[in-house]
Amino acid sequence: MYNENDFHYLYATMNTNATDLYQSWLSSLQNSGYRLTETRRALVEILAASSHALSAVELYDLGRRECPRLGLVTVYRTLEKLEELGLIQRVHQPGGCHMYLRAAQGHQHLLLCTACGRAEYFDGDDLSTFMNSVADQSGFDVRDHWLQLFGLCQQCRDHDL
Ligand SMILES: [Zn+2]
Ligand SMILES: [Zn+2]
Repeated sequence: MYNENDFHYLYATMNTNATDLYQSWLSSLQNSGYRLTETRRALVEILAASSHALSAVELYDLGRRECPRLGLVTVYRTLEKLEELGLIQRVHQPGGCHMYLRAAQGHQHLLLCTACGRAEYFDGDDLSTFMNSVADQSGFDVRDHWLQLFGLCQQCRDHDL
């Protein structure tokens, strides 16, 4: 059975941004006619608060702590719905599988920590010179790009010292 106390505890520990994000996702889902069961709310909450990209199975494991009866099908359907609404996006992993993370705001790129899995967006890049030279050399009309940088986050670097 769903445990209200766990829910409130997790909710209380979310930072303001995650709380705002969670509330706005709930509104978007409601406006699109999605029925917000407690299970779905718990999944939305975990995704909104996560600083890591999550695979469907990881989300399932985290969700089961809140709602032990959660099924994997519910996880996939919730991810599908959030992706359809543009609230989350896929993050591609070097191994070929993909994970999910809150969607970028405008033109942003991803930094992914290969040690702890932390995912962060960064604004701004000036790749136009590089893109133009690729376009010139290949004959492609390049219209967009998609950039993910892999490495170690500050915390993992500090651990290494
Ligand atoms: Zn890290
Ligand atoms: Zn860019």
